[in-house]
Amino acid sequence: MTIYVGVDDTDSKVGMCTTYIAIEVLKRLMKENLGIVSYPRLVRLNPNIPWKTRGNGAIALLIGTGSAREQIIGEINGKPIFIISDEEPCSNELVEDVFSTVCEVIEEFYISDDKNTNPGVVVTCIKPPSTFYWSTVRSVVKLESVMRWLESQKVLYKGWGNKRGLIGALAAISWSPKDKTYELLTYKNRNEWLKRPLYDKESVKMLDKVLRCSFDNYDYVEDCACIFPRALTPVLYGVRGDDPKELKLALKIVKTNLRPYAWLIFETNQGTDDHIVRVCIGKIRPRMSVLIEGIVSEKPKIIEGGHVIFKVQDDTGEIYCAAYEPTKGFRKIVLQLIPGDKVKIWGSVKEYPNTVNVEKIEVIELKRIIIKRPPLCPICKKRMTSAGKGKGFKCKRCGTRLPEDTAVIEEIPRKLKEGIYEVPPVARRHLSMPIKRIKMRERGLC
Ligand SMILES: [Zn+2]
Repeated sequence: MTIYVGVDDTDSKVGMCTTYIAIEVLKRLMKENLGIVSYPRLVRLNPNIPWKTRGNGAIALLIGTGSAREQIIGEINGKPIFIISDEEPCSNELVEDVFSTVCEVIEEFYISDDKNTNPGVVVTCIKPPSTFYWSTVRSVVKLESVMRWLESQKVLYKGWGNKRGLIGALAAISWSPKDKTYELLTYKNRNEWLKRPLYDKESVKMLDKVLRCSFDNYDYVEDCACIFPRALTPVLYGVRGDDPKELKLALKIVKTNLRPYAWLIFETNQGTDDHIVRVCIGKIRPRMSVLIEGIVSEKPKIIEGGHVIFKVQDDTGEIYCAAYEPTKGFRKIVLQLIPGDKVKIWGSVKEYPNTVNVEKIEVIELKRIIIKRPPLCPICKKRMTSAGKGKGFKCKRCGTRLPEDTAVIEEIPRKLKEGIYEVPPVARRHLSMPIKRIKMRERGLC
């Protein structure tokens, strides 16, 4: 029997990382001969929640008491972490033990002096319905409805502060991975949490080449390694991909000056587009992430701050779409759109302004730019000029006149090509599916 442990919101903008709780919990449970019966889960939730900390990620651990050791999926201070077989039944006493261990770890590690950090932990033998996951990743779930469920079931739970972490904790254990990716996370020694690691860029580029099914390792345009977190946290680096076995190679390839104290492979919903809902423009509401299809209805323009905005419409309405400054070179693509282009847009909508923050764009059909030019004078071979609207053309030099229907019809070639474009890895949302992954899946390669 499996014990589901969900934890959320232990980090702040300045430190910690909820995934590190998994390391500390496992360290303690392994001493009591408990273990995980499947990959630990890192579950990203609605990216449009204004009170989220950094990546809005919660974790779930599936704990069991089996003895057979299967594969190694991590290591803490040189000690391997196995996935164990789940064979023995779990008693109420055991569930309570696990619950108190997790609470102890949270007490010790959560950022208690930040009012935006409100941890929650849920421990249960009953897997909550996956509808909880879908509403938490796609919309805004109220704490009251989570509390109602927790109260109605035999569930152990605890919330700190305003208890908001309970929402993510419950969502994490209710996720039934269908589409999923993996992330290998490595952790620094505790005395190095505030140190920024030095690393060899070339080794990260090498990693990117060797790990065929991984993504977002290196941003070649911005020339920066994306596997290292920008914030100072226990995480040394994280490598994402579709093949957990392949990810382990990162431990040998990535060169940094800090030695990882621990590493662990998580199963995640990162890169799955699980947050995206296909809607018509008229149905867009704040805090949704959407896929819309329409026609560019207003030319892109650069606004203060370097952001690029344009409008898209379909039969049900019109909405502003934006490529913000942090999306860097992606804005150059967007600037080439013109009214009439047929596009698909993946993006998130904040509370205000009501704008789709573009994550990916597919140019389905380019509007053709057709122009009419005066013909060349048959005598002088010079370009004629218009003789007035609908009055044909005349040659300034020799006075020759030609009728309107001698106009030359020309098509101006578009620089933009039809196809799919995305924000660079440095600006990627955790949940957003990279084009590399879309293509690999289409070819059945991952
Ligand atoms: Zn002429």
